[in-house]
Amino acid sequence: MLLGVDIGGTKVLALAVDGKGGRVLGRSKRKLKGLDPESVLKRAWRCAREALEAAEASEHDVRAIGLAVPSAVDDGTALLAPALGWHRVPVVELAGRVFPRRRIYLGNDVNLGVAAEFLRGAARGGATVTGVGGAVVHGGRLLRGVGGLAGELGHVIVVPEGRRCGCGNAGCLEAYASKTAFLARIKEAIFDERRRSQAAAAIRPDTTMIGSNELRRSYRAKDRVVREVVDDGLRLLGLAAATVINILSPSHVVLGGGVVEAFGEPLVRRVRGWAAPHIFGGQERAATIVRSALGDDAVPLGAALLAQAKGRLLT
Ligand SMILES: [Zn+2]
Repeated sequence: MLLGVDIGGTKVLALAVDGKGGRVLGRSKRKLKGLDPESVLKRAWRCAREALEAAEASEHDVRAIGLAVPSAVDDGTALLAPALGWHRVPVVELAGRVFPRRRIYLGNDVNLGVAAEFLRGAARGGATVTGVGGAVVHGGRLLRGVGGLAGELGHVIVVPEGRRCGCGNAGCLEAYASKTAFLARIKEAIFDERRRSQAAAAIRPDTTMIGSNELRRSYRAKDRVVREVVDDGLRLLGLAAATVINILSPSHVVLGGGVVEAFGEPLVRRVRGWAAPHIFGGQERAATIVRSALGDDAVPLGAALLAQAKGRLLT
């Protein structure tokens, strides 16, 4: 049995997976909030234990463990994870004190999610696959680039001198087409421009998170503020996807994450529609834009596959 654990900014998701990395046998999810690395790992282990219980297995059945973090990763260390407030955290070493004594491997969450989609999901057997979250599989390998920084598609500039991004740049896709960006723009509309919105019921000036389902509800109810903000984000996502298609000519561009899961296929169709006119040499290639088949499981499944591959997944 393998364990794959996705440690995100707000939650941990753990999967117990069969030894071949093919079947999910148990899963568990726990909320996370502003904890130090050791407490986060303790909570991650608790979550993993619940996944094992759900699979009717025990820690003695675990062969290897894969951990995913929202960070560039080098040799078992998370270099920089803004979502967790981590800087140079030796995750594998710390996890070795909390988790059972098994081999533990660490990977970047988006790389692992895209790898899982390539090996088991929406892009199975694809040629070049990219996820707009920011990873590229080319020729069966994860593209690392110099310094491991390839594939940061969230930081493609879509608006010259546009909104500030968490990375310090301005006008990045992530500053428009992420849940954080949606919330920031909805707050501006409600509190600065004094516009009316259904979403206002769930949002205060100090609110830092909005649920994907809440967004979908207001969007479906044709709330004008939410429509404008989300549609603008999806339009820019379409432009970025077209850019990716023009540069890489991939077999699949996989869209994933909470908002994509909540909005489903209609969101993917809108993104395709906005991408199509900008695709070089044929609008039909917009069809390569697809929804993640694995959903929330993509990243922890990728972590389990990393463990199965002894740390060398698609390298
Ligand atoms: Zn950026």
